[in-house]
Amino acid sequence: MVAAYNITREPHAASAYDIAIAQYDRAVGFLNLDENIAEYLKYPRREFTVNFPVKRDDGRIEMFTGYRVHHSTILGPSKGGIRYSPAVDLDEVRALAMWMSWKCALAHIPYGGAKGGVVVDPRTLSHGELERLTRRYAAELIPMISPHSDIPAPDMGTNPQIMAWIMDTYSMTVGYSVPAIVTGKPLNIGGSEGRQEATGRGVIVSMREALTRVSTARPEETRIVVQGFGNVGMNAAAYAYALGYKVVAVSDINGGIYNANGLDIPAVKAAAADSGDVRTFGEAEIVGNDELLTLPCDVLIPAATEGQINESNAEHIHAQVIVEGANGPTTPQADDILNERGVLIVPDILANAGGVIVSYFEWVQDLQAFFWDEDEVLRQLERAMIRNYAATENMAEEYDVDLRTAAQMLGIKRVADALETRGIYP
Ligand code: NAD
Repeated sequence: MVAAYNITREPHAASAYDIAIAQYDRAVGFLNLDENIAEYLKYPRREFTVNFPVKRDDGRIEMFTGYRVHHSTILGPSKGGIRYSPAVDLDEVRALAMWMSWKCALAHIPYGGAKGGVVVDPRTLSHGELERLTRRYAAELIPMISPHSDIPAPDMGTNPQIMAWIMDTYSMTVGYSVPAIVTGKPLNIGGSEGRQEATGRGVIVSMREALTRVSTARPEETRIVVQGFGNVGMNAAAYAYALGYKVVAVSDINGGIYNANGLDIPAVKAAAADSGDVRTFGEAEIVGNDELLTLPCDVLIPAATEGQINESNAEHIHAQVIVEGANGPTTPQADDILNERGVLIVPDILANAGGVIVSYFEWVQDLQAFFWDEDEVLRQLERAMIRNYAATENMAEEYDVDLRTAAQMLGIKRVADALETRGIYP
C-alpha cells in the first residue's frame, strides 16, 4: 500500500492531520502491528464535502462549506462532534475523526471515529441564520448519519440547541422522532443528565489522578490555568473550583484574566454569560492568550483548540501537569520538549473522553427509551475515567513511553485487533 497524503511539511506549518499522523506513527512504532493493518488504519474510511446555501436575514444567499469524515467504523457506528469555526478545513476534520477512533477504543466504547465541521464563525450569524445553516447542513448530512451508522455531537462552536435542530431535521425527513441521531441534546428531547458538564468534569477527574502521582499539595494549594472558557474549559474550571482547587487564570478567544489568589469561577461564569468575554469580570489582571499559557501554575488545561502548546512556548510553561481538554492542543515538537522537562501530559484522547463516554450513555438511554438519574451517570463517568487512566499508565510503564503514546497504543491496538478478527471485506 502507498500513503495517500503528503505529510512531510515544515514543523511550523504542521496541520492537525500532520500531528495526528505523527502521533499514530509513533504509537504504531511500538506496537509491532502487521504492516498492512497499520497502513489501513491511517486512512479515513469516507470523507464528505458539501457546499450549501443559507439565506441571510437581509435576503442575500451565502454559500457555506461543510464536512463529515468517518475515520473508522470497525468497532461500531462512528461518533464525533460537529465544529463551527472559520478555521475548519478537511485536514482538521480528518485529524479529529482519527483521534475519535482511538479515543472511543481507549474508553472501551463500541464506536468508531468521525468528525464534522462547517467553515463559519457562528458569532456572526443571527439565531435564525444559525438555525437555517444547521438545518441545511443536517439535511445534506442525511446520507452519512443515522443512529446505527454515525452519531454527531457538539464540539467547538456548537451546542445543545444546534443538536436539537439536527435531531428535528433528521426526524422530519424520516417521518418519526429519532432522539438517538445525536448526543449532547437538551434534556427535554432525550438528552442525558450530566452530558453538558461531562467533558470538563472528566478532565478534572483525570487531573486528580495525575496529581496523586506527582504532588502532595492540597487542592487549595494547587494553581490551575484554563485556556478556553466554553463547554470544556468552563465546566472544568467550575468543577475544579467546586472541589476547592485554586483556578488562577482563564481565557476565551478575546483574551484572559489572572488573579494569583484564585478567581471566583461562578462569578466569572456569570460575567462571561452576560458579555461573551471573560475579561468583563472585574477583580483580575487582563492577560493575552499567549501569556496565559506561561503563567505561574501547577496545572495547565488547554481547552480551546489545536496547536496552542508548541515549540515557541513549551520551554516557558510552568505547569508540572498538563491536562488536555482540547483535542490536539500540543504539537509533537512541544511534546518532546515537555517530556524532556518531565512535565506530565495527560493526553486529549484520555483526558477529554468524558464527553463521548456520556454521549454513549445518552445514546444507550435513547435506544432503550429508559433514562438514568444524574448520580448514576456521574458515577459511571468517574469510574470509566479512572479505569482508563490506570490502563494507560500501565501501558506507559510496560513500554516505557509517555502517556500520549500509551493512550494511542491502547486505542490503535483495540481497533487493529477488531479489524483482524473481522477480516478484510470481501
Ligand atoms: P466551545 O465552543 O464551547 O468553547 C471554546 C472556547 O475556546 C471558547 O471560550 C472560545 O472563546 C475559546 N477559544 C477559541 N479559540 C481560542 C483561541 N485561539 N485561544 C483561546 N481561546 C479560544 O468548544 P468546546 O466544546 O469547549 O471545545 C473546546 C475543545 O475541546 C475543542 O478542541 C474540542 O474539540 C474539545 N472537546 C470538546 C468536547 C465537548 O464535549 N464539547 C469533548 C472533547 C473534546
